[in-house]
Amino acid sequence: MSKNGRREPRILIVGAGMSGIAMGVALREAGYENFEILEKGDDVGGVWHWNHYPGLSCDVPSQIYQYGFRPNPNWKHVFASGDEIQQYHAEVVDHYGLREKIRFGTEVAAARWDEPGWTVETASGDELSADFVVMATGLLHHPKIPEIPGRETFAGRSVHSARWDDEIDVTGKRVAVIGMGSTGVQLVSAFQPIASTVRLFSRSPQWVVWAPTGIRQPSAVAKWLRRNPETHDRIYRRLLKSSGILAEITTKPGWKRKLVQNMARAHLLTIRDRELRRKLTPDYQPLCKRQVVSGTFYRAVQKPNVDVVTDQIREIRPEGIVTADGTTHELDVIVYATGFEAHNYMRPMNLTGRDGATIDQVWSGGPRAYRMSAIPGFPNLFTMLGPNSPTGSISLQYSAELTSKWIVQWLDAFGRGEFESIEPTEQATAQFNEAVKVALGPTVWNTGCNSWYLKDDGTVDLWPFDRATMRRMLSRPDFAHFKVESNQQTLPEDKAVTR
Ligand code: NAP
Repeated sequence: MSKNGRREPRILIVGAGMSGIAMGVALREAGYENFEILEKGDDVGGVWHWNHYPGLSCDVPSQIYQYGFRPNPNWKHVFASGDEIQQYHAEVVDHYGLREKIRFGTEVAAARWDEPGWTVETASGDELSADFVVMATGLLHHPKIPEIPGRETFAGRSVHSARWDDEIDVTGKRVAVIGMGSTGVQLVSAFQPIASTVRLFSRSPQWVVWAPTGIRQPSAVAKWLRRNPETHDRIYRRLLKSSGILAEITTKPGWKRKLVQNMARAHLLTIRDRELRRKLTPDYQPLCKRQVVSGTFYRAVQKPNVDVVTDQIREIRPEGIVTADGTTHELDVIVYATGFEAHNYMRPMNLTGRDGATIDQVWSGGPRAYRMSAIPGFPNLFTMLGPNSPTGSISLQYSAELTSKWIVQWLDAFGRGEFESIEPTEQATAQFNEAVKVALGPTVWNTGCNSWYLKDDGTVDLWPFDRATMRRMLSRPDFAHFKVESNQQTLPEDKAVTR
């Protein structure tokens, strides 16, 4: 019991990335102290901690890529670098005194529902108990490295972009970048001025929308924002509202979508060499994959020391990459910008819910959740940016903040003794997923391209609604959608408590 008579739940958050930090701040702000954040890395920031490849920056403007509760006046760039974003996360963590709550170097190997709570097992064998577990494990965490024959025989250095080794110096080297997603495009732009040659192995080209990704935020702007925090707050909210355009163009066909798609097509025309333009022309609609944004890539790729290779990779030998046409591309460094296992979520953790059901069993048909935040059969467990998160359309910080406040309301209800355990009903989860299926129909992600948005069964793992719908769905707990167990009584699914 806490001082005010409220039952104080024990909470474990897994992951100190963007959403884990948002959850920690929400708990602090709501007066919860009995929580810990378990982080397998040695610093906060999640994806921004693990990724530190050359040229890493965010292709979303910094004044929107930040927490609503902590707008940062001091961004040096309009599109911040990875380092700057990392510093921002560290500043937020320190400002809210969260560092003392984080156990670094602590990987969670397993978590199991041991009625009436969770037992969480770390990779080093420690066991922790909790009333609630919040999985803030992120999406783009597990690097995907393709099984190319001979990969291990390469005599030079090879590395996945998300595990970049700062010891690698590409100056004057022959470098290969495999993959032309947002990462590959940033790497080519960064390597071109310093490497002797850059070969981009592009299996399927991506559309690139131009944006002034290199421009600085004038220091006078930072000074003015520091002096006017309330106006800064209003500006942030205005920007957030304007960013609704992204959800609109991706989820609804119409002239706005066409306009942005034509911007991508027009940008491609800046490639003067016809053969190169042909190689860089995708065979699907712009915006279908996660849109690549760059103000530098098309300039870099037209330089004489850059070559775009569209032939399939056949094998890797000690001296380099051999393509299907039999050419051996001699190399010193190979960088795999080949993306992530985006649908793993908390796996490979062994997560076991009610009646011994494992997450692998429950998700054998693909990841599935109630409103991206809870899973039937896994009581008192929440997912931050879980299945169907809006990675392609809505501010992730906004989504994480909203989810964290929704979770806090559940904790408040637990504190008041309103339940011992809750889990979403199968029916409510099915209803949500059916609505998702219908809403995904007219989205641009569904127009015939192969992207990391797709699950194994070919369906899109994204949020097909707008921000207002998300706010409505996660503004307060809907007990009618949950199987509620309390000390007084245990209600079967079809008689879930409604308030
Ligand atoms: P990605 O978008 O999944 O792209 C992976 C690339 O690797 C694709 O071009 C893919 O080709 C290629 N590839 C995969 N396996 C291959 C193989 N066996 N042979 C040849 N090519 C292969 O990965 P990413 O670029 O790392 O980006 C992932 C996400 O991270 C982005 O979509 C974005 O959400 C995020 N990100 C954001 C920023 C930012 O500035 N905010 C920066 C970087 C990344 P196919 O298309 O043919 O599969």
